Amino acid sequence: MSTVEAPAALSELRGRLAELSDLERAVALLRWDQETQMPRRGAAERGEQLATLGRLAHERLLDDRLGELLENLRAHEDALAPDDDEASLIRVTRRDREKALRVPPAMVAELARAAAEGETAWREARAQSDFALLLPALRRNLELRREYAACFPEAARPYDALLDDFEPGMTSAQAQAVLGPMREGLVALLEEVQASGTSLSRGPLHGPLPVERQRAFVADVLRALGVDAGSWRIDEAPHPFAIALAGSDVRLTTRYNEETLDSLFAAMHEFGHGLYEHEIAPALSRTPLATGVSSAVHESQSRLWENFVGRSAGFWRWCFPRLRAAFPDRYERADSQVLYRAANVVAPSLIRVSADELTYGLHIAVRFELELALFDGALDLGDLRDAWNERYRSYLGIEVPSDADGVLQDIHWAAGMFGYFPTYALGNVLAGQLWERIATDIPDLDERFGRGDFGSLREWLREHVHRYGRKLTPAETIERAAGGPLDAAPYLAYLRAKLAPLYGL
Ligand code: ZN
Repeated sequence: MSTVEAPAALSELRGRLAELSDLERAVALLRWDQETQMPRRGAAERGEQLATLGRLAHERLLDDRLGELLENLRAHEDALAPDDDEASLIRVTRRDREKALRVPPAMVAELARAAAEGETAWREARAQSDFALLLPALRRNLELRREYAACFPEAARPYDALLDDFEPGMTSAQAQAVLGPMREGLVALLEEVQASGTSLSRGPLHGPLPVERQRAFVADVLRALGVDAGSWRIDEAPHPFAIALAGSDVRLTTRYNEETLDSLFAAMHEFGHGLYEHEIAPALSRTPLATGVSSAVHESQSRLWENFVGRSAGFWRWCFPRLRAAFPDRYERADSQVLYRAANVVAPSLIRVSADELTYGLHIAVRFELELALFDGALDLGDLRDAWNERYRSYLGIEVPSDADGVLQDIHWAAGMFGYFPTYALGNVLAGQLWERIATDIPDLDERFGRGDFGSLREWLREHVHRYGRKLTPAETIERAAGGPLDAAPYLAYLRAKLAPLYGL
């Protein structure tokens, strides 16, 4: 295409992508509403509304005209620097479209149906604590995901095709090279903590803490982190999440329980996700580039605020007086050190979502290794429960008493979500690498937190991670921000440095 024609094609491309983005954000709004506001009986029609909008968006992506435009813009793209906004827009759209074209529409529909049936079967199996009740639906989802993976024959292993949906460009071999050493390091560190003879109490984070006052307290903390009412909302959802309808319209959720202060950590986690979406360069708005680049990079941001900030000494020096003001009778005799220690207790437990910072990665290692073995054919689904229980014994040193608290605790596999779990742990690993760099660039970070200054961290993250959106590949984003590829060593060093004084290691 001549340079004279390129602007017209680009302008048409941008117009089409803006409408596609509008449809996708409308889907996001309906989903947000479904989880936070919708009366229960709205579910059936909401399902239809979501399906219709989702289909329209999918059709727009597959539209032949979009393909023509992308083809016509090849020469223009080649003439630009690879990280030019326009070149990235063309490249990322082409990749999204080519992936979508590989999967027959009948298979897309079948995957959605099997996922919905799997979720229903999972609820029943979990209520009965009987893995056998889930097996048929799980087997169906596994078979369908194998067929889906076969749509991408260039993948070295079927699992790689699944992982690519969440972590574009990453292979299972690369994930293994990071998560294998992470698991070994965590197991060794856990053994040291347990051999120390020191035991700390989570008690100070337990209630009763009246929910009404938790709401005000969490909102107060989030405001200090950077949540302003002009661009953000905080609502409640049974499974907390964050969603952005635009960079300037971010919705966070958390959940409250009088018994614990988990609402704070859940809110800080979702704040990390929300901030990423909030800080993407406005020039990328209403394009496919205006969202986080991968699940692991997204999770690095949520984990960073939840754990690296939310469980730091500086944060608690600043936060504790606020906590005491919110709950004066509960914290009359405590101090910030008591809360700091309580927030960093290591205690192996059965349930992933309530795991501490150290053992969380072991819960993920179990899931990643098992799903990889399922897709490699090294593990039969019928043996999944035993393999699960065996790994919990070996990595975490605990016996799994029931399926409900074991292999049935997460909904992901029942809904056909294979390839997602590793991104949780890869996010922790990346957060460790970022933290190491941030500590070099802002050496007095802990003092800043103690003063309630979170702006310097926000600005570092905006500059090095957030603003790019999907403009760079995940690997390039990580390379630029972390200074190298994923590596578990900084994360392990961070945990050790924090736990050593607390546990006398
Ligand atoms: Zn998350």
